[in-house]
Amino acid sequence: MRNVIIIGSGPAGYTAAIYAARANLNPLLIASSVQAGGELMNTTEVENFPGFPEGIQGPELMAKMQEQAEKFGTEVLLDDVTELDLSGDIKRVVTGYSGEFEAESVIFATGSAYRKIGLADEERLSGRGISWCATCDGFFFKEKTIAVVGGGDSAMEEATFLTKFASKVYVIHRRDTLRASKIMQERAHANEKIEFIWNAEVTGISGENALSGVTLTDTVTGEERELALDGLFVAIGNDPRTHLVHGKLDLTEEGTIAVSGRSSKTNVAGVFAAGDVIDPTYRQAATAAASGVVAALDAEHYLAARESGVQDPAGIDLAPAN
Ligand SMILES: Cc1cc2nc3c(=O)[nH]c(=O)nc-3n(C[C@H](O)[C@H](O)[C@H](O)COP(=O)(O)OP(=O)(O)OC[C@H]3O[C@@H](n4cnc5c(N)ncnc54)[C@H](O)[C@@H]3O)c2cc1C
Repeated sequence: MRNVIIIGSGPAGYTAAIYAARANLNPLLIASSVQAGGELMNTTEVENFPGFPEGIQGPELMAKMQEQAEKFGTEVLLDDVTELDLSGDIKRVVTGYSGEFEAESVIFATGSAYRKIGLADEERLSGRGISWCATCDGFFFKEKTIAVVGGGDSAMEEATFLTKFASKVYVIHRRDTLRASKIMQERAHANEKIEFIWNAEVTGISGENALSGVTLTDTVTGEERELALDGLFVAIGNDPRTHLVHGKLDLTEEGTIAVSGRSSKTNVAGVFAAGDVIDPTYRQAATAAASGVVAALDAEHYLAARESGVQDPAGIDLAPAN
């Protein structure tokens, strides 16, 4: 029986593991079989994670987080959680290859996935001109020509934000009207660096080592044309990875796991959640890491209170979130 099982190996999972391991909880972290390291494995330079003034490559940062978690006694398992039973006092975690584990508490840190356009070259040029995060990568596109794909609020927000850096920002949208709220549309329309390309779909991506342009197909006429670009920001949505807990944990309207206030407590006692899977708004490595700290401390207090049979000394209310 484990004290705590952490599911997910992004900044939230590894940071929770560092704290839990240093609290002598001997955590087991189930990292995923093929996607260990989380979203930062898909990028190159990370310049906004504190402590690395020269910047650091995403995969290197994640390797360091893993090393730090293991140094203090975290056991990292390269496997996928396929099933969860969270209902009882003892939680049951089933994996694809390594069998079943039991734990007194679980920290759920499975992150979220940006929706992709679905083209073969998208992954290859991720971090090499293609991005899903203006806050993360806008800075790399000073005086460049870029495009944002999407027609919702986040696409308008990204496009407007990116005009701080880029000399030109196209907004590519499949239809001739936007889904975005009126205020966000007005802001984008008023910005002279933004140009809308209506009824257009990105059907091809070009570039050897870095993005050089896209092929656009007119959704009405079917005509194709090339558009030269230095950067492409995909803003067509984001899906929290919650399928394992549907019907088991409460979710928010945005589809993230519901937690109580600033804590990591879900509606099930002993189950905590951290990182992008609870965050519809910020979704950054540093915010995910901070959220992992909260989850480890909440789990630690929960376990201490269980052991002593009294209210935990930090005064955290152990009742699950409603
Ligand atoms: C291309 C790109 C570039 C980015 N650049 C930056 C940047 O420069 N700076 C910044 O601050 N942020 C950046 N971000 C955002 C940042 O990566 C995320 O905010 C952060 O990784 C979220 O951390 P997390 O731990 O919540 O989840 P994730 O990093 O998504 O990690 C979740 C992990 O859980 C695993 N998992 C999911 N389901 C299971 C399961 N069933 N069993 C086992 N494991 C499972 C996943 O495989 C994954 O490894 C970028 C994101 C992308 C996509």
